[in-house]
Amino acid sequence: MENISKIWDEVLAIIAKHLPIAPYDIYIKTLVPVSYDNGTFTLLTENDFNKDIIKGRYLDKIEKALATICNDYVIAKIVLKSELDENLNVQIKEDSSKSNAEPAFYDKYVFETFVSGKNSNIAYASARQVAEKPGQVYNPLFLWGGVGLGKTHLMFAIYNYIKKHFPQMKVLYCTSEEFTNEFITSISKGQGHNTPKDAPSKFRAKYREVDVLLIDDIQFLIGKEGTQEELFHTFNALQGANKQVVISSDQPPHKMVLLEERLSSRFSQGLTVDISSPDFETRSAILQKKAEFDRLKVGEDVITYISQNITTNIRELEGALTRVAAYSKLSDEPITIDLAKTALKDIINKPAKQEITIPFIQEIVANYFSITVEDIRGKKRPAKIAYARQISMYLACKYTDDTLVRIGKEYFGGRDHSTVHYASKVISKDIAQKDGTREMIQEIENKIKL
Ligand code: ADP
Ligand code: MG
Repeated sequence: MENISKIWDEVLAIIAKHLPIAPYDIYIKTLVPVSYDNGTFTLLTENDFNKDIIKGRYLDKIEKALATICNDYVIAKIVLKSELDENLNVQIKEDSSKSNAEPAFYDKYVFETFVSGKNSNIAYASARQVAEKPGQVYNPLFLWGGVGLGKTHLMFAIYNYIKKHFPQMKVLYCTSEEFTNEFITSISKGQGHNTPKDAPSKFRAKYREVDVLLIDDIQFLIGKEGTQEELFHTFNALQGANKQVVISSDQPPHKMVLLEERLSSRFSQGLTVDISSPDFETRSAILQKKAEFDRLKVGEDVITYISQNITTNIRELEGALTRVAAYSKLSDEPITIDLAKTALKDIINKPAKQEITIPFIQEIVANYFSITVEDIRGKKRPAKIAYARQISMYLACKYTDDTLVRIGKEYFGGRDHSTVHYASKVISKDIAQKDGTREMIQEIENKIKL
């Protein structure tokens, strides 16, 4: 059993590189490895919905990564709890208050393994205080920051700390996607009750009768009005009873267009803190700690090499070390700087990252739609051009710090800020409601972030 978590950890590191963050977090990271025998690696998923999506879209990637790590052809089998055979079922931790499967490397996410640097010490300290005094210090605690910078880590650290020190408290962790899915299911099961206000009592009891509620990646709620309304009421119920709420997002509350204002103002009532990218010393310290945790023998030179070359995202930083370790294991050689260079050549020798500017975004979008940047900035109105323009505005808001006024005036032919705001709203809504749009934007964003 201990071995399969390790394999799975390594597989995750590989898959994380090839998947956008949202599907990775929702479908892949939530899988729990249960067994590996006779060339079959069995993974537990949470629900039918996820199972179908994983089998349809990601099985291939999972099997490829498994093959790389296990050095052999491996079949990945995705199962629901109900499909597990009895023997295995007993081994899976049961926790009836929590239907969500626990991530495989759950115990790794504690305060002790979190390295706090200049970029994260306020987030770390406030998370710690909240864990020590739930409901009494900052409520809600709103953590925000880019991908792979430690938000989920801190949320789990709070979760684990409270479970350990206040065992009588009910703590619930979920992603906003899970909250949404459960809410929708609860409505559809609610026989004839089909407004948010009638959401069946089981759902409400689950989310409102807790002492601590942690909701990760709230940005997925953007544009989902019904769920936001339900969350608003959940939030009020909890806060009214002095129960702790912790929220994470990739943006600060006020930047989330299409988040209902009353919700974003509630979020801002407590403490909002950000986590930014770590500096070189912090990156090295994180790698040191990970090496210790994984009991890897890694020299200072290798740690320095990785920290110097992978700078923005801690998940990638750790992924690089995992990759080096996997190479060393497969080739049966010690971890040296040369081995590290070989293992990481595809990752590190990439050309320097392009800074994300509005002209750059416009160029990518224009290419995507086979139109010109002038079309995007200009006055033409054909549907395709107008849509590409709206997408560019949405992405400009998301990826730059420019104000709406400046975006409209300087980069979109002197347009009014309300036009930019409206465009962001339209696109956010489409993303929330249409799979096709979500995938298209994801594809464009991947090009932007390349
Ligand atoms: P986010 O939720 O912000 O996208 P995660 O919390 O999932 O990021 O972090 C990505 C990976 O980096 C995790 O494996 C996490 O343990 C690790 N990590 C992030 N920040 C730190 C840190 N300050 N110290 C140690 N590990 C960290
Ligand atoms: Mg996260």
